[in-house]
Amino acid sequence: MNDLTKLLHFDQKSAGPHGELHAPVYRNIAYHYEKSADIEQVFQGKRKGYSYGRQGNPTTAALEKKITLLEQGVDTAAFATGMGAISAMLFALLRSGDHVVASSYLFGNTRSLFESFERFGVKVEFTDTTDVSNVERLLTPQTRMVFVETIANPRTQVSDLARIGELCAKLGTLYVVDNTMTSPALFKPGRVGASLVVNSLSKYIAGHGVCLGGSVTDTGLFDWSRFSNILETYRSVSPGEWGMLQIRKKGLRDMGATLSPDSANLIALGLESLEMRMERISSNALQLAAFLEGHKLVEKVYYPGSINHPQHGLATTLFSACSGLMSFEIAPAVDVNRFIDGLTCFACSSNLGDTRSLLIPVATTIFYELSATRRCEMDISERLIRLSVGIEPLGDLLQDLDRALQAAAD
Ligand SMILES: *Cc1c(COP(=O)(O)O)cnc(C)c1O
Repeated sequence: MNDLTKLLHFDQKSAGPHGELHAPVYRNIAYHYEKSADIEQVFQGKRKGYSYGRQGNPTTAALEKKITLLEQGVDTAAFATGMGAISAMLFALLRSGDHVVASSYLFGNTRSLFESFERFGVKVEFTDTTDVSNVERLLTPQTRMVFVETIANPRTQVSDLARIGELCAKLGTLYVVDNTMTSPALFKPGRVGASLVVNSLSKYIAGHGVCLGGSVTDTGLFDWSRFSNILETYRSVSPGEWGMLQIRKKGLRDMGATLSPDSANLIALGLESLEMRMERISSNALQLAAFLEGHKLVEKVYYPGSINHPQHGLATTLFSACSGLMSFEIAPAVDVNRFIDGLTCFACSSNLGDTRSLLIPVATTIFYELSATRRCEMDISERLIRLSVGIEPLGDLLQDLDRALQAAAD
């Protein structure tokens, strides 16, 4: 059976008391047990059950199982936000003295988070992950984790995901892939050997921009018995469960980055149309990229689906389509603000992954905190605009961009 079919009929099997077709929303945080021995068993991990809402909830558990299904993994923990998921995972798995290799094109907040871990004695080295040899050169016996994203925001570099996976497998290194930009509808990191898959549920997975969420999925490929940072207390279950047990205990119970049941429900509703949205979004984006590449008021276009993209070959072998993120530099003749303000089918917003098309000038907003020198190092031009393509009919989007570009040119 197809994953989408399974997903749509998923809740029936774990049905609520009334045969609900979609998992009910349980807002409760507390549970009672008739027999004290039962609650003892829950606390000792000998019996499945809920204790206190910070550590899990049936509505959230239903969402976690669906993400596990789509990522073809073995277990998923959901968190309050994508950053909450990444923080929890790093907090649970790293120790002072560890070494991490990460992409130099990481989502800005993730990079900033890694820099905080450096203050606690974790050495993080950033490198161009579009080429596996850069990763290989940095690996040491202290390397505890390699962390990459599928498609970078905003310049759309694609990591050499399969080769990095082979390298990590050979050395037994934990390999974490942030799949937010592609989502499990277009790419399953487990297929290239990822140990853990991170998703921001706030973006494509929910798709509606009305709530935050994040997740960490264990693909079942990593041998946790070889991971030195598992605490003695969590070695009582079978080794396949060690990693997620520690992530749940440290990330949910201790850190408290717990997803609310209402958000879990909204995300689960959005998830049902993920595959359809990603097809439409990717096909719109591919055609918009071609249109912008041919436009005389556009100087450069960055979209992995375009044949001119430096990692086009990688992207087409890895992903079933190239998703909705692209960026482009507009010609000096165009006034950036007038162009953006003149659009009617694109909302000026810092979000991405919505059903609606969104755009934002990059250098003056999300990368404003960085210096001009640092932006230059990152190849972020002052005239770069990021687009998150939505599901609107293509004709409206093309017409709107063309009209606004012409109107803002002097
Ligand atoms: C947005 C984003 C995150 C963080 O997710 P939030 O849900 O906003 O906290 C992490 N990684 C990538 C690639 C993202 O785009």
